[in-house]
Amino acid sequence: MLQQTRVGTVIPYYSAWLRSFPTVRELAEASIDDVLKMWEGLGYYRRARHLHQAAKQVMERFGGEVPSAAEALGTLPGIGESTAGAIASIAFGAREPVLDGNVKRILCRLYLLGEGPDSPPATRELWRLAGRLLPDREAGVFNQALMDLGAMVCLPRNPECGRCPVIQDCLARQSNAQDRIPVMAGRGKPLPHHDIAVGVIREGNRLLIERRRDDAMLGGLWEFPGSRMEPGETPAGCVAREVRETLGAELRELHPFMTVKHAYSHFRITMHVVECRYLGGCCEKTGHSDWRWAELGELDRFAFDTASRKVIRKLKEGT
Ligand code: SF4
Repeated sequence: MLQQTRVGTVIPYYSAWLRSFPTVRELAEASIDDVLKMWEGLGYYRRARHLHQAAKQVMERFGGEVPSAAEALGTLPGIGESTAGAIASIAFGAREPVLDGNVKRILCRLYLLGEGPDSPPATRELWRLAGRLLPDREAGVFNQALMDLGAMVCLPRNPECGRCPVIQDCLARQSNAQDRIPVMAGRGKPLPHHDIAVGVIREGNRLLIERRRDDAMLGGLWEFPGSRMEPGETPAGCVAREVRETLGAELRELHPFMTVKHAYSHFRITMHVVECRYLGGCCEKTGHSDWRWAELGELDRFAFDTASRKVIRKLKEGT
């Protein structure tokens, strides 16, 4: 959960998660719908699917015991080299390094690395440095301290060098280069923006929702049907076209309902929400993995992405 997400955001999710899935077996046996529902709002949904798959593999390949060696951990879905090092050192006391974004930043500054930290030679060098710094004992405590130093003191912008315990050893600080290191390609570039149109499609009390394909971004989550708008297209035109092409349905009485702005890690969207009535012809399964009609009060049972949740909140306010 902590990959790309701050501790304060994660804590309530973590507590609720452990109440629902207190053991690896219970997670492995849960449905993907229940897993995604518990993750709803936390973002980067691939992590939830990986955790679910990893639990299944722990049951099948490791007899229900999470392996303690970094190498074996690294064979599980969603566990890269750094996460494997973190689990092995913190949970099992192994002498393994960690190299997450925070640690990379500290090492780049401590050793005044002039290259972008994600190039293959820089990554090799950073792993070497992270391994060399490890103490003989309590590697897990050391790794946690390093990650905390990055999260609380050696910040991406305006690092608080005045209260840094390694200020004497920091080459970036000695060169007054801490604000320029690490060198990040594309830093400060605005995120690309897309206009999306989605339809709140009504038939009586029911609304039409569809489920994203597992291999898509936000895979497995539910959403209101729609797509990215094509040049010159209106939101209503986009929804009518998309619904005809992917669900085989025709719509009537399309009119604007609301606009939602949302930022993902690599792009921003403006979601134009169109309210409309179902005319007929539903439903095929093209471009999505499932669809169904559901009453507004039932939507809380399904896992939606954050932008769609804003639409649901507004729909509830109107009832
Ligand atoms: Fe980071 Fe400043 Fe500490 Fe260097 S002295 S590691 S730049 S906080």
